[in-house]
Formats: sequence, C-alpha cells, structure tokens
Amino acid sequence: MNKIFNKIFGIYLAVIIPLTGIILLLIFNIVHEHYLITITRDLKRLNYSIQDQVRPYVLEANSQELQQKIININKKIKARITIIDLKGVVLADSDENPKKMENHAGRIEIAKAMSGKMGSSLRHSVTVKKDMLYVALPLKHADNIIAVVRVSLYVDRIDTLYSELRNKILLITIIVIFISIVVLFFFSKNITDPIKELAAASSRFAMGDFNAKVFINNNDELKELADSFNLMTDKIKELFGNQSMYQEELQRILGSMQEGLVLLDKDNKIVMHNKSFRKTVNSDDINYRFYWEVLRDSEVQKLVDRVRKKRSRKTTEIELNNISYMCSANYIQTKDEIVLVLFDISERKQLEDMKRDFIVNASHELRTPLTAIHGFVETLEEETKGSYSKYLDVIKRHTTRLIAIVEDMLTVSKLEDDRLKTQISDIDFKKLIEDILTIFYDRIKEKKLKISYNISKETKTFKGDFFKIEQLFINLIDNAIKYTQSGEIKIRIDDEEDKVLIQVSDTGIGIEAQDLERIFERFYTVDKSRSKKSSGTGLGLSIVKHIVNLHKGSIDVSSSDKKGTTFSIRLPRES
Ligand code: ADP
Repeated sequence: MNKIFNKIFGIYLAVIIPLTGIILLLIFNIVHEHYLITITRDLKRLNYSIQDQVRPYVLEANSQELQQKIININKKIKARITIIDLKGVVLADSDENPKKMENHAGRIEIAKAMSGKMGSSLRHSVTVKKDMLYVALPLKHADNIIAVVRVSLYVDRIDTLYSELRNKILLITIIVIFISIVVLFFFSKNITDPIKELAAASSRFAMGDFNAKVFINNNDELKELADSFNLMTDKIKELFGNQSMYQEELQRILGSMQEGLVLLDKDNKIVMHNKSFRKTVNSDDINYRFYWEVLRDSEVQKLVDRVRKKRSRKTTEIELNNISYMCSANYIQTKDEIVLVLFDISERKQLEDMKRDFIVNASHELRTPLTAIHGFVETLEEETKGSYSKYLDVIKRHTTRLIAIVEDMLTVSKLEDDRLKTQISDIDFKKLIEDILTIFYDRIKEKKLKISYNISKETKTFKGDFFKIEQLFINLIDNAIKYTQSGEIKIRIDDEEDKVLIQVSDTGIGIEAQDLERIFERFYTVDKSRSKKSSGTGLGLSIVKHIVNLHKGSIDVSSSDKKGTTFSIRLPRES
C-alpha cells in the first residue's frame, strides 16, 4: 500500500469510526429515552383500562376478589398491578402478598397519584428486589379519589427489549461501516492507483526510459494530468532525439578531425575532447580532469592563463613528446570556456628546417667563390690599371651585392632556426653602441654625418640576446647611414614603464607612406634603383623585426618623405 492510500484511508477511518460512535451513543440515548416514554405511556393506558375492572371491588372493599381480579389481569398483560388505598395500605398486588407489603404512601409515584396527578418512577423495588418502572394513577369514583392503581414493569424486561433493539442498531451500524470501508477502499484506490502509476512512470522517465506512458480510465483531473504527462514525454523524447542527433554529428566531426581539440570549462577542467587529443596526450581517462594533469607544458599554461585573462585568442608553438604543435586557444565568452586546438606542424617544421639548412649550406658554399671573385676583380683592377674599369666596376658592385645577400640570408636562416635557442645575458647599451659606431666610423666620416646617442640613467642594461641585439643596432644604423645624405643620426635609449625604448632616427630621404607597411617584408626594397645604388638586399629590416619578435617586443616606424625616418622599438624587460 502506498502512502497516499494510507493517508486517505486512515483519515476517513479516523473520522468515520469516532463519528459513528458518537452518533450511536446519541441514538442509544434517544431511543432509550423514547422507549421509556413509550412504555410509560403504554403503562398509563393499561392503568386506565384496568381502573374500570377494579373499581367495583375497591368500592365494595372486597380485598380477596380484588386480589383475584388483578392476578387474572396480570396473567394477560404481564405487568405488575398494585392497588393502594388513600392511607398507603396495599390492598392488592399481582406479584406479592399485599399483607406483607409495607405502607406505600411515601412512594413518589403514589404520593403524586394521591394528589390527583399521574406519578411515574424508575427505581428499585424493595418488595420484589428488582428495578421497576412504576406508573400510578388515582382511581376515582364520582370525582373522588378512592384509591391508587399502580401498573409497573420490571426493568430487566424493558432492558431485554432495549438490548434487542440495540443489537439490531449495532448490527446495522457494523454493516454500514463495513460497506463504507469497502466503498472507501475502492474510492481511495481509484484516486491513488493513477497517482501511483504516474509516479512509477515519472521515475521510469527520470531513469531515461522515454517510452514511459500512463493510461488512466478515469475522466477527471488525473486523466488530464496523465495526458499532459504523455504529451510531455513525447516532446522531450523528440527534443532528446534531435539533441542526440546533433551530438552524434558533433562527435563524428570531432572524431574525424586531425587536430586535437579540447574544451576547458571555467575551472580549467576538460569537458570535451576528441580522439586526436587523447592520442596526443596518450590517455583516455581525461574527462573532468584539470588540463594540466594531462597536458604538462608551461607554454600551454601561459597561453591558457593569458587567454582567460584577456578574454581573447592566441596561438603558440609547443613541443610534446618530440612532436611540434601549433596550439591555439580561443575564449568562449558565453560559458567562460576555452577551446584548445593542437595542430601537428612537425612535417612543416621539418620542411622549414630542410629549407633553412639548404639556404645555410648554399650560402656557405657561395660565399667562398664570391669572395674569391671579389678579390680577383680587385687584383684585375690593379693589374689592368683602369683599362677595363667600366666593366670591372659593374662586376665588383654586383659581387659585393651578392656577398651582402648571401651574408643576410645566412643571418636570417640562423635567426629563424628554433634549434638555436636565444642566449640571454646582461647588455650594456653604452659599450654596445660605442663598439658598433667604430664599425661605421669611416662611412660616417666619408658622408660627413653627425651621429649622437643618448642613454637614460635608468636604462643602462637590458637582459637579452647580445648578438641579436647587436645585429638589430647594426642593421638600423646601417640603414640610417645608407639612406641619409646629410644631417644627423640620433640614437636614444630610454625606459617606458616596464619596457625599454630604442629609437634610431635620421634626417635622410624618408619612406613614403605606401611603403611603410611593407618595409619589414623579406627582400622588400622601396625603390629598386635607389636601393641598388645603396646595395641593399631588402633583408635588413626583416631581420630587425625577427629579433624584436624573439624578444616579444614591438617595432614602429614614422617617416616623412625627405625629412627623415624614426624607428622605435619597445622590448619588455621580462620577456
Ligand atoms: P635594404 O637592405 O634594402 O636596406 P631593409 O630591409 O633594411 O633592406 O630596408 C627595406 C627598405 O626600407 C629599404 O629598401 C629602404 O628603402 C627602406 N629604408 C630602411 N631604412 C630606411 C631609412 N632609415 N631611411 C629611409 N628608408 C629606409
């Protein structure tokens, strides 16, 4: 039995049984009272009917005849009859010897009857030693009271009748209670069975059985509820169907992806991942684990922290188990999540390395013969004493340019070689700049240029790769000298918050606005004829840019045609 059934059934029983008890008690009382009234009335009638029969004997004062008479009447009516004279002396009694009976004047019913009214009393009879109901009436003759006639009934006889009646009422009550319990049982079941069915279907539904249905035959609110439930299950089943279809599709797409993909929730726990990712980290059990438990890499950690902080996207190169990956992190605002995608770039890296090795080797191989050609051209110049100077000049200029290209290619290749890690040391700017200026001393003097440098007090040293920073200064100063005919070159080193600012400005030919964006591209020269005259390779600034990137800095250029150019480089102190 379920709880609701017990409640309904229990409450009904708790109400019905005491109520029935109270009603029964009331009924018994009313019936009992009514019964006494009725019997009293009957005894009164009997009393009247006897009066005419006994009157002559009382008038004659014939006690014997009177006694005989009432005994005869008693046989017929089965009620005790007593005749008492006005002094209270019992003249005759149907059940006892009147001579032995005490004076009755003191009895309530007798006293009342002597006063001319009807007297009734329910009490214990001293004479017969039993409870009795007495009804006494005055016996009159010509309006004078001549005696009292009392008719009485034994209470046990009344009780027998009463208990018969009570038994019948009780039986009927028990039958009524039994029927109402049976009706109540079915009524409660009628209510609780559908509820039970609904509850069972709901729990089946909650366990994932979307086919759970409820069928109720009633035509009430419960049926409406069951219909709504069935409709709801159908709808949810349909929704789940669509959902799982999308889910499967998504899983198929993720599964077929070559790239490793992983979704991190707001606590950096893995909430979604694909096969490629599991293969990359070599583990299948990664659900709801922190990403750093399966992907131990400081670069990834930095990347995730940065992307979460900046709420943006970022890409970095990482190496896991000797495989290079391009790792991109994207922030998803709606749920504060991050998607990490790992793209295997080993093959590309290998090709790049091969290409770089080839360039380095080729440059090396080319440098020796080119230097030899350059040397022989100079010897030839001396030997021929200027006879072929027109041709030899062209050859010399082109070999110089070729040597410069080969040198720059070597520098670029070395710079881009990830295998050669940056060597961080303390750089003393003053010493560095002074050493570099000695290299350019002749050219500066030749062009009559003024050159000055200014290093702020706070910015004496900087932690970076010495040879690369030196290369950066050489290229910028080289360009400044190259593209300035007259005027001055200024070098400025200063602090800017947590960065170091390096500025090289000149009063040279400047760069036109349309070229500004492209000058950092490899082999990009602004004006071919102009650059060729200055024997540029178009690699100098791309090398500078590369060095700046290696130090995680930024480079800006501002220039106005014919008025000069300023390169501003900002390098973070903690890179
Ligand atoms: P290059 O070896 O030709 O100088 P760079 O990469 O160093 O190659 O420079 C690219 C181009 O930018 C140059 O061809 C030149 O026209 C321009 N450039 C670079 N520095 C300056 C400068 N200080 N003043 C004017 N133009 C410059």
